Amino acid sequence: MSDWLTAGLPHIWLPYTQMATDATPLAVAGTGGTRIRLADGRELIDGISSWWTACHGYNHPHIRDAVERQLATLPHVMFAGLAHEPALRLAQRLAALLPGDLERVFFTESGSVAVEVALKMAIQYWRNLGQAGKQRIVYFRHAYHGDTFATMALCDPEEGMHTLFAGSMPDQIMAELPRDESLRRAFDLLLETHAGRLAAVIIEPLVQGAGGMKMHDAQTLAFVAEACARHKVLLIADEIMTGFGRSGHMFACEEADVVPDIICLSKALTGGTLPLAATVARRHVFEAFLSTDPTAALMHGPTYMANPLACAAANASLDLFTGEPRLAQVAAIEAQLGRELAPCRELAGVAGVRIKGAIGAVELNGDVDLGALRRRFIELGIWLRPFGKVVYLMPPFIIATEELTTLTAAVCQVLGERAQRIRDGRGT
Ligand SMILES: *Cc1c(COP(=O)(O)O)cnc(C)c1O
Repeated sequence: MSDWLTAGLPHIWLPYTQMATDATPLAVAGTGGTRIRLADGRELIDGISSWWTACHGYNHPHIRDAVERQLATLPHVMFAGLAHEPALRLAQRLAALLPGDLERVFFTESGSVAVEVALKMAIQYWRNLGQAGKQRIVYFRHAYHGDTFATMALCDPEEGMHTLFAGSMPDQIMAELPRDESLRRAFDLLLETHAGRLAAVIIEPLVQGAGGMKMHDAQTLAFVAEACARHKVLLIADEIMTGFGRSGHMFACEEADVVPDIICLSKALTGGTLPLAATVARRHVFEAFLSTDPTAALMHGPTYMANPLACAAANASLDLFTGEPRLAQVAAIEAQLGRELAPCRELAGVAGVRIKGAIGAVELNGDVDLGALRRRFIELGIWLRPFGKVVYLMPPFIIATEELTTLTAAVCQVLGERAQRIRDGRGT
């Protein structure tokens, strides 16, 4: 084991980790392209882009150069009363890229906080319009919107990540995604019944990520948007996972021609290099905050908001979406995932295969030994983190065809081994 790992491990607390049993992480010495280089010399192909961020692969020289230049001139200043070019250029570019009049950008440093800001915007929007009673939020089954208290209250209570805090969270309203006629009537009735108390509906458009890679179609998303407009409830699109090409469009909302009132972005915003998030509001939302009343202003301001290094990285990342063929790469990945994961459908212990853009998910049934699956993937030289009952691939968009085949072949092999164990009655 590396010296620094042995010496530091007694002092580190790892995420979502039972420290008594599975606390030794792999020591990483470096990264490059699609690869994670381990301290012991092994190399893993990253099939999940470091929690869905590294869309251009690791160490892209264009982003590195931009951050290096920024570091030499202006690493950070506070963002109240002071402005800098990387943030203002990024805000202008995001506004131009996003659909409709989503044009007013509030920067933060993490996805959860971007959602918190969206909630504040929505609740205060109604208060500023004289409807202070509209404070509650509707979210959907299987949703995941973050790890902070207000966002935990918007995560599926049965997915298990946050249930033990139930008593300490605000009480919000869970709905079913309106996928068919009867669910549409139910959703419509829910909004009608509660409209006077509802500030917003929040949705992960087209793909619900951490809640299990559940997918819905553009018509369902369009119906949600239409119902929100009809019942005067704001629509918040959480595109922290889907944004920047992952679903096949630059933003998933575009596929349904939906312009949400507020959109949350993070994860791939800096191409997986530095922490940054953005909450972007439409013009009418912003205008509700314009007033001579000082309490009508948005009361939020993280210390490191709009960090210039992170904004420089994000600007460079946006360059790569035009300078390199990202969306074409996503389309090719989608087709390849479809072909190469299809055989998993036939395996014992597999409930289904879902593909959307550069996301391929295999849903399992029965008991799932996550630890065993994860170890087996590492033995095969690939980095995947299946969770719940889902083994999924979300590779960097620059992945080569052969590398993606290595990933899909490993998934088929490992799930094939599991199917064999199930058939032999040797567990899962
Ligand atoms: C990851 C994620 C978040 C939370 O982002 P953090 O940066 O981890 O706080 C929120 N919503 C969605 C859809 C996500 O995928």
